[in-house]
Amino acid sequence: MSRKTGIVKDTRYLQHSAGFAHPESPERLGAIYEMLDNPLESWKFVHIEPREATHEEIETIHSPSYVEFIASTAGKRSVYLDPDTATSPETYEIAKLAVGGVCNAIDSVVEGTVNNAFALVRPPGHHAERDTAAGFCVFNNIAIGAMHAILKYNFKRILIVDWDLHHGNGTQHSFYGDQRILYFSTHQYPYYPGTGDVQEIGRGQGEYYTINVPLNMGAGDSAFVKIFHKILLPVALEYKPELVLLSAGFDTYFQDPLGGMRVTPKGFAAMTRILLNIADACCEGRFVAVLEGGYHVAGLTKSVKAVLEEMLDETHISEQRLSLLENEVDEEASELTIHKVIARISPYWKVF
Ligand SMILES: [Zn+2]
Repeated sequence: MSRKTGIVKDTRYLQHSAGFAHPESPERLGAIYEMLDNPLESWKFVHIEPREATHEEIETIHSPSYVEFIASTAGKRSVYLDPDTATSPETYEIAKLAVGGVCNAIDSVVEGTVNNAFALVRPPGHHAERDTAAGFCVFNNIAIGAMHAILKYNFKRILIVDWDLHHGNGTQHSFYGDQRILYFSTHQYPYYPGTGDVQEIGRGQGEYYTINVPLNMGAGDSAFVKIFHKILLPVALEYKPELVLLSAGFDTYFQDPLGGMRVTPKGFAAMTRILLNIADACCEGRFVAVLEGGYHVAGLTKSVKAVLEEMLDETHISEQRLSLLENEVDEEASELTIHKVIARISPYWKVF
């Protein structure tokens, strides 16, 4: 059974520059687009046109003064937003286009034009906080996309999975007291940005709706699949999301210059399959991936390709292969982390 997969792809996303020789380079997306345009690949995508998000949409997550500040950088040569994050003259416009691309991808999936979608956009978003840019991120694309889905479709349960190397502090904080979003993150820890401890589980109405799986350096395919199977899958099936969103960062790739993890394209495909299985069981397959990090350009391209092939059902990793992969390597460190996380969240989630 093949699926209709939408992609958001627009060369305007290459116009944002974070500065000379910056790892979050236009070449990242350029290489992915080249792979998608390769005439030897017979991709069967539906193209989703992006649009610029409005201030009203962006202000569901960011403060009006912050949005005004980013708007004020338009046309300026370069403004440093934090030591790692700078703008170019086009950044304001392109950052709005990144948010609007995610919103349109969500609309296409919810309205049924496609089964699932991948928003191949930049700048990335998951570190952006209400009032500040951070870690190469300007507007929090996925958080604004989730709010868009809540407001437009009256969704009450959205799962956001964040498998980027770094913890998505901005996304976590956006929904820390909000049970309409279940935020699940795996990340290298301790590491930038410093948040994402097991103890951070949300507060008030949102208590137990944030789940952090902090990992030592060196975790690979087997560990990630095990974590997805033992923690994410049972919680997600109990939560029953109406939409599954993914902060798809590929800086856990084994050769990434910023990371110390060991994930291969096969591992990313396997994790994608688990997310698709969750979406199939809970919400008619509604799944939207949003590009975050990933700084080894060739590895990023191969990994995105592997994810897209799963989304299209051109490859389909079976349950049996998933469980083989899960048990391929015995990693004591990740086993310990799994126990710690389950101990922290089991008072609430009945499945444990
Ligand atoms: Zn990252």
